[in-house]
Amino acid sequence: MKKAIVVGGGVCGCTAAYLLSKDGWDVTLFEKEKCLGGGIRTFFYGSHPYTFGPRPLYTPYEKVYKFLNKFIPVKPFKLYLNTFIESDGQFYSFPIHKDDIPKMPDARSIYKELEKRPEIKGKMDFEEYYTKSVGKTLYKKFINNYSKKMWAIKSNKELEDFEWSLKGVALKTGTKQVRTDLIHAHPTNIDGYNRYFDIISREFKVKLNCNIQKFDVEKRGIQVNGKWLYSDILVSTTSIDSLFDYCYGELKYIGRDFIKLVLPVKQVIPDPVIFLHYPNDEIFTRVVEYKKLYRYKSDTTLLGMEIPSFNNKLYPYPIKSEKEKAKKYMDSLPKNVFSIGRKGRYVYDNIGEVVMQGFELIEKLRI
Ligand SMILES: Cc1cc2nc3c(=O)[nH]c(=O)nc-3n(C[C@H](O)[C@H](O)[C@H](O)COP(=O)(O)OP(=O)(O)OC[C@H]3O[C@@H](n4cnc5c(N)ncnc54)[C@H](O)[C@@H]3O)c2cc1C
Repeated sequence: MKKAIVVGGGVCGCTAAYLLSKDGWDVTLFEKEKCLGGGIRTFFYGSHPYTFGPRPLYTPYEKVYKFLNKFIPVKPFKLYLNTFIESDGQFYSFPIHKDDIPKMPDARSIYKELEKRPEIKGKMDFEEYYTKSVGKTLYKKFINNYSKKMWAIKSNKELEDFEWSLKGVALKTGTKQVRTDLIHAHPTNIDGYNRYFDIISREFKVKLNCNIQKFDVEKRGIQVNGKWLYSDILVSTTSIDSLFDYCYGELKYIGRDFIKLVLPVKQVIPDPVIFLHYPNDEIFTRVVEYKKLYRYKSDTTLLGMEIPSFNNKLYPYPIKSEKEKAKKYMDSLPKNVFSIGRKGRYVYDNIGEVVMQGFELIEKLRI
């Protein structure tokens, strides 16, 4: 039987490990933490379920939705998001919605700017795209500070793409639901996706508490507790720079500090809203009421607050120089070494995309 080593037990690594073992590979997965699940692991605080930042499935891939539902119930929900605009003292819908403009004190100048909007074409940086799409006033209110805060940057001109920012949805009409073109779903189990990991990991060997820091990509090997292990294929979901001992430099990430707050009320955020964005001078970016995602019933509620920080590596930067560095690493991967997942590809991938990468890996290996 051919051997596969998988590094990282998040949704990407575990899905790939499961599919490989179903395809006849002898798979061993190494995870640095004491449990599987990575970013989508559900934890509990004061009996409330939460993830480190909200992790519903948003995906165009029905295949992923159906696949997850074979193991755990993942059910659709409608996502509504509000933004607090401190200067107006009001919450508005996000993405910016045309129907909210009349409620804004500066509505007249906003309309004037919208009338003068140029045609949107060609490659633009983030600031140019948004100012051209919604005008300077709306950009300043809703977008400018949020994205600078999110990425800890001085100017949004540094951002060369905006795939991460609700995929460039600038000014909405019609429903206030965030996206209607994607499947939005969340597990209904109290422990979220956790059972998915329990079930699929029966199909492969799992070594927990193994932080892999040395790789021999040419020989498809990893060092575990001082010993080298080799395999026919190496699938890694850790940051791709570490596979090459950072030879082209370390890839830059931003992370989040996460604050959990339980309050003695049933519900804080009025329905149907689940997420709140804060684009002002608060230190946090987003507040989420988790029980709404989990459909969890309780007399208290848990809010999760995200504060951009460099204490962990969660978001690959949408900046040209970093993407070019990541490409150099990608281009250096030898045959039968695969770097997939959000950090493996250094792409702002979501759950649906990294699960698809597991399917794509299997297809490639079958050829
Ligand atoms: C705050 C936040 C909110 C998000 N919200 C959503 C959302 O709402 N919807 C959505 O679809 N996507 C969301 N995403 C993205 C989504 O969660 C990720 O795309 C997905 O979880 C990535 O899975 P992964 O397996 O590639 O990586 P991870 O989940 O990061 O898993 C990687 C695993 O590898 C382990 N590991 C790392 N290095 C090593 C090593 N050297 N040795 C051994 N093990 C190692 C880690 O401990 C971890 O378990 C969000 C991301 C963030 C950061």
